[in-house]
Amino acid sequence: MTIAVDFDGTIVEHRYPEIGKELPFATATLKKLTDDGHRLILWSVREGDLLQEAVDWCRERGVRFHAVNGFFDEDAVDAAENAKRNPHYSRKLKVDCFIDDRNVGGLPDWGSIYQIISRRITFEQLLQEEAHDMEPEPKKRPWWKF
Ligand SMILES: [Mg+2]
Repeated sequence: MTIAVDFDGTIVEHRYPEIGKELPFATATLKKLTDDGHRLILWSVREGDLLQEAVDWCRERGVRFHAVNGFFDEDAVDAAENAKRNPHYSRKLKVDCFIDDRNVGGLPDWGSIYQIISRRITFEQLLQEEAHDMEPEPKKRPWWKF
């Protein structure tokens, strides 16, 4: 899969323009996703030096991105120029999913994110599984009542 990942509030606690503390297991999960063959795109409102700081912060922790704030080479060119050259050009990222703290319903923990992506299930399916796992075992009848 190709996965767009936000930085502030998603990989690290939201302290923009500072870099907050890493959210538990964020970088470990991103590295595992890359090892599993997924392509990561950093998708952030950061620009310039602040963006580079985020990229460097991730690289220092072993997280490498396929692309940063874009996908194809043409994203490096001005969007208006792209629109002229290709009437079907869209700024929308062509990715399979987004990991972002602004998801409807909020950001799952990184363990859940890994389960959802690697098993290709929905967040709802994961929650149902977890709810099922928490149901008490049906009471067993004592052997003398059989
Ligand atoms: Mg964010």
